[in-house]
Amino acid sequence: MYPHDSLESWHRGQGHWANVAPNDWNKWTWQLRNSVTKIEQLEKYLDLTPEERAGCLFAKDKLALSITPYFFNLIDPDDLNDPIRRQVVPRSEEMHTSAEELLDPVGEEETKPVDGIVHRYPDRVLFLVTDRCASYCRYCTRSRLVSNAQDYNFNPQFKSGLEYIRNHPEIRDVLLSGGDPLLLSDKKLDYLIGELRKIPHIEFIRIGSRIPVFLPQRITPELCDIFKKYGPIWLSIHVNHPNECTHELREACERLSLAGVPIGNQSVLLKGVNNDKAVMKSLIHRLLMMRVRPYYLYQCDLITGSAHLRTDPREGIEIIQALRGHTSGYAIPQFVIDAPGGGGKIPINPEYVKAITSDAIVMRNFQGEEYRYPLQFDATQKPNPKAPQIEPLLV
Ligand SMILES: *Cc1c(COP(=O)(O)O)cnc(C)c1O
Repeated sequence: MYPHDSLESWHRGQGHWANVAPNDWNKWTWQLRNSVTKIEQLEKYLDLTPEERAGCLFAKDKLALSITPYFFNLIDPDDLNDPIRRQVVPRSEEMHTSAEELLDPVGEEETKPVDGIVHRYPDRVLFLVTDRCASYCRYCTRSRLVSNAQDYNFNPQFKSGLEYIRNHPEIRDVLLSGGDPLLLSDKKLDYLIGELRKIPHIEFIRIGSRIPVFLPQRITPELCDIFKKYGPIWLSIHVNHPNECTHELREACERLSLAGVPIGNQSVLLKGVNNDKAVMKSLIHRLLMMRVRPYYLYQCDLITGSAHLRTDPREGIEIIQALRGHTSGYAIPQFVIDAPGGGGKIPINPEYVKAITSDAIVMRNFQGEEYRYPLQFDATQKPNPKAPQIEPLLV
């Protein structure tokens, strides 16, 4: 199904919008103005199922419907289970809720010193700079804040956020997020990144954005010049399925890379989208071909109305196990669960350590074969009394 990749099979083009002048199509403002936001627009191109139609009617009170024409073209209209469709077309299952699901599944509101800042880890902060995105992911962990559908009182403030960061010298890493920071104008981004760069204790600036994926037209030479000016600026993009790896995205990543922006990818493990070893392998190979390093694979947060997209976390472990040793180490993301209630990201790994005995660590390799590596003793071969005493993991 996903043979060895060749660039010829990657998507490019204007699809349903073939009659639009390329000059308009390639403008990011045109893409946003012509985004699919209404059920009538969706029905022009797709035969909606009853579940999808009901989901669209509900969306206005939960999380807006919006899909850029560029991204919409990646949906195969003949496939009701299309992996792009599942990510952005609302469904009635979003109305189903359960006790374990929350509006703030990873407890961000509890670690919010000022509006727009989430300070959970000692040395770094999340700085939420806008409540808008180019398109809305139906499993959005911040659906309470974004798109303004829930009347949530969130008015991103640059001033108080910057002030907080200036006054906290323990912060060395700022992650701009939202909403999507790259929806801000060049002028605002230049100001914001410029102000952060002036703060002596800020060593590391990064941006979390799905704009290259939804709206690669936004990655203009002018935007890249801003990143170049204040670099290094790191970027985490969000690609979930190999079909999102288009020539347009590849070229946007190339512009960013050539401007000195290191790019990582954060995927969310989603049922019917990418919870499949072959799909995930194809995705991470395509990412490397675009100069993008797979960074995290997230277990889907327990956001309200996401049960139809969530997987059993054991599937994530199995996928990582199928990758490690079987493909380039650079291609393998770290699988994490952002702990419900605010514990932060916890790495979840297949078990390679079988036991730590009195004299060795006993391991298995990617093929399941057993190997041993001795524990450290001093030159006389007597047990080092200073060595930490580790209980055997398995007896
Ligand atoms: C994910 C996250 C970060 C960044 O975590 P890294 O592991 O450094 O990428 C920082 N703050 C919050 C609140 C986060 O959720």
